Amino acid sequence: MSDFGYDPDCNGLFDTHAHLSYLDGRGIDAQACVSALFESGFAGIIDIGTAADDLAERIKAFSRFDKVRFAAGVWPHKEIIGQSDGQIASLERHIDAAPLGIVVAIGECGFDRRENPDAPRSERLFLEAQLDLARWRHLPVLIHSREAAMETIDTLAAHPDVCGVIHCFSYTANEARVFLDMGYYISFAGNLTFKNAGSLREALQIVPLDRLLLETDSPYLAPAPYRGKTAHPGMVIQTYRCAADLLGMNIEDLKDTVRRNAEQLLAPVKG
Ligand SMILES: [Zn+2]
Repeated sequence: MSDFGYDPDCNGLFDTHAHLSYLDGRGIDAQACVSALFESGFAGIIDIGTAADDLAERIKAFSRFDKVRFAAGVWPHKEIIGQSDGQIASLERHIDAAPLGIVVAIGECGFDRRENPDAPRSERLFLEAQLDLARWRHLPVLIHSREAAMETIDTLAAHPDVCGVIHCFSYTANEARVFLDMGYYISFAGNLTFKNAGSLREALQIVPLDRLLLETDSPYLAPAPYRGKTAHPGMVIQTYRCAADLLGMNIEDLKDTVRRNAEQLLAPVKG
């Protein structure tokens, strides 16, 4: 496989969570990479926001690819979560200024216990503001949740009219069941392929096929055998192979399944 994924298996792959604008700073030419992937038949990429004001630049860089769609949200950075009013208003302004239909989800947003070990109340309020935004705009939400399963479950349960994706799922089958019961999709990233990921592989087995998504979280979490390198969306093939193996599925069927789920939840991607 070339660095940019000329692997014939790339045909039909969908990466439901990537940060394309972080690739250039990490030694990958994002434009060349994304071009090469779509030339080799890639089905779609959702480019994810982490800051209130990053949307316009991402749209400028990647909307020329008509199979890239955008999510807009604010990651729970320590120095940001205390300023929720200004941040959310700014996020709304940027979404309003974007071409109609190009923003398909709110996110990523959520809880991060390494970033915010003291679980400040402002972190929850900040997520709740984005859940409200998702509800008003009838958009799914993309949830980041690290070492904060209970708070995530509590908060999402208090917003039953919002739904979306638990991205880069990092818990066990027990938590997966709870999120599934609340209607959420579960998205697995490259860490599914890691040697020590037994509980993730168990969790995968209980996710109904119509709620399953796969992603890279590029440039992070490159799957085996690329662990430790900068991830790009083409590497998602390794996660598909691993999941297909675990599920006893033909990889082409798994590609169809994930693509269908992604298109259903995150709006049809043209083409
Ligand atoms: Zn991410």
